[in-house]
Formats: sequence, structure tokens, C-alpha cells
Amino acid sequence: MNRILITGAAGFIASHLIKRLLDEGNFVIGIDNFYTGSRVNINAFLGNKNFDFVEHDVIEPYYFEVNQIYNLACPASPPHYQKDPIFTFKTCVFGVINALELAKITGAKLLQASTSEIYGNANICPQDEKYFGNVNPIGIRSCYDEGKRASETLVSDYNRLFGINAKIARIFNTYGENMDINDGRVVSNFIVQALENKDITVYGDGSQSRSFCYVEDLIEGLILFMNSDFTGPLNLGNPCEFTINEFANYIIKLTSSKSKCIYMPLPQDDPYKRKPDISLAKEKIGFSPKYSIEYGLMKTIKYFRERYICS
Ligand code: NAD
Ligand code: UDP
Repeated sequence: MNRILITGAAGFIASHLIKRLLDEGNFVIGIDNFYTGSRVNINAFLGNKNFDFVEHDVIEPYYFEVNQIYNLACPASPPHYQKDPIFTFKTCVFGVINALELAKITGAKLLQASTSEIYGNANICPQDEKYFGNVNPIGIRSCYDEGKRASETLVSDYNRLFGINAKIARIFNTYGENMDINDGRVVSNFIVQALENKDITVYGDGSQSRSFCYVEDLIEGLILFMNSDFTGPLNLGNPCEFTINEFANYIIKLTSSKSKCIYMPLPQDDPYKRKPDISLAKEKIGFSPKYSIEYGLMKTIKYFRERYICS
């Protein structure tokens, strides 16, 4: 039985990862400070004898006897990570140092949740792992983008200096059940607005693009990656690309909503094109997303309808 630590355990992605790892018979320890996460996301696991939860801020060191670590703790939505940028940067940097120190002491494998944001406003599309990115170091997104880039540097240096097995997963836009209604990212915003027949808030002219991955596909990728010998960096996502205008209209259609789009200012440094090249993930870990965007969005719409709109 693996003993697995998940930081950011009360968050959206972690809630799915914990379920899957418990279902597969592992012992899971979750830590979180509830900065953006919710107790609701872990309530179902609290009675499980194979699950422990500790309220803790990853900026401070910690110790657990484990053989795998998923370092997911970090606010991920632009409004949340920009609210306290110093905290975000500290979470990225001190958080990964504390995870790497634990990996060094225990010999545990570590998977660092990095992001497509490390490519910044990319001037190639799709983005592959060899691309170094085009990132503003002093803008409002920099606390997250540069924080995650610094985390990648630290993972790489710990691997080189101490011969540990730490991996870099570059996660592209992922959506699904357990996203917070106030998360502020495009998928939850548009679904909730459409279900309530309110205006759909498109930022800019809506010609920027994102590629959306259903969370169950991402979880499969994270676990395949953890169980492989490859350390990355590795893109994980779904190359299914939409402009934000197309995405708004698709959500209106799937929800049979009466909503109309309204156009609002584009936030500073909002990347123009985002699409993962996942050839390396296919080659190294056999990763290939299997859920269609329609399937994933219908599951997510059902979740928001049942949990928030009709309750
Ligand atoms: P989320 O906000 O739902 O979850 C993050 C969790 O980390 C929350 O439970 C939060 O309370 C916790 N946290 C934040 N700072 C902490 C700290 N200092 N100490 C302890 N806990 C802390 O976000 P998510 O979408 O589930 O993202 C999880 C991870 O995946 C993040 O590291 C994020 O950067 C990365 N990621 C996510 C996406 C995506 O599309 N969802 C894309 C790229 C990368
Ligand atoms: N966006 C939007 N309306 C919203 C929320 C987001 O038009 O209500 C846009 C945002 O400007 C960006 C894209 O949707 O171009 C994805 O934003 P999100 O915050 O989900 O994630 P990002 O990929 O920017 O981190």
C-alpha cells in the first residue's frame, strides 16, 4: 500500500485525485489551509480509515512518512492568486521547497503541479515542453507564473543535486465537478451565468483561446506520470481548443440558456493562445484524454445545477 501525501487536498483537482487514490487502496494524507479549498470537498473521505487530514499552510515545513507526494497547494484562479500575490509567490516557492525537503528525507517520489502559465503569452502554438515561454516578470499574473517557474527551477535543482525523483507536470486548463462557484475561472463563471440566464462575461473581444481538459482525464495523467520513471517536464491537458467566444456560445447551447454575451476589459497579460502539445505525454506515459468536451461539460453543468442552482 502506498502512503501518499497530497498538498492542497481541499481543492478542486485534489478532491478527484484523493477519491481515485483511495479507491485504488492507497493510504492518503491531505493537507490544506483552506485558502481557496473547501471542507465540502473532503467531507466524504473523513470517515475513511485510509485517509488523514491535517490543516496546515505549506509555506511552513511539515513531516509525514510517505512514499509519494503530490504538491498541489496553490491558488489557481487569477482572481484568487492575484488577491494576495506575496502569499501566492511564497506558496509556490516555500511550498515546493518544503515538499522537496520531505522527498529528500523520505525518498518519496514527488509530482509538482506546474502550469501552462509558465509559457506566458506564448508565441508558438501548440506549446510543447521545449518552449521556454514568454512571461512578463512584473505584471499582475507574475506572482503565479514566475512562482511556478521558480518551482520548476527548484525541482530541477533538487533532482540534479540530490538525485531525488521529482516530476514537473504542466497542467493546462482543467474543469469538472467540485470547482467552486466563486472560483472565477471561465468554465465555472460561464456555466453559472448561463444556468441563471445572466449575462455571460467575455473578457476582451473573446478571440483568445483556451483548451479544456476534463478532470478525470487529468487525474489519469497525473497518476500515470507519478508511476513512471520519467521526470518531465510534461504537458498534461486536452488539445481541444476554443476561442472564448466559441466557448461562451457552446455553454449557452448546452444549457439551453437565454443568456447573451457582454464584453468586458481584457485583464493584463491574458495569454492569447493556449493549446498543449501532448505528444511527449503520449510517448512517455501513454496519456491520451478520452472524455469528449461535451461529456465533461454536461457532467460539470449537472454538478452546478444540482449543487448551487436548484438547492
Ligand atoms: P484550487 O484553488 O481548487 O485548489 C488549491 C488548493 O490549495 C486549495 O484547497 C487551497 O486552499 C490550497 N492552498 C493554497 N495555498 C495553500 C497553502 N499555502 N497551504 C496549504 N494549502 C494551500 O485549485 P486547483 O484548480 O485544484 O489547482 C490545484 C493545483 O493545480 C494548483 O497548484 C494549480 O496551480 C495547478 N493547476 C491547476 C490548473 C487548473 O486548470 N485547474 C491548471 C494548471 C495548474
Ligand atoms: N474569461 C472570460 N470571462 C470570465 C472568466 C475568464 O472571458 O468570466 C477569459 C479570460 O480572460 C481568459 C480565459 O477566459 O482569456 C480563461 O480564463 P481563466 O481565468 O479560466 O484561466 P486562465 O487560462 O486565464 O488562467
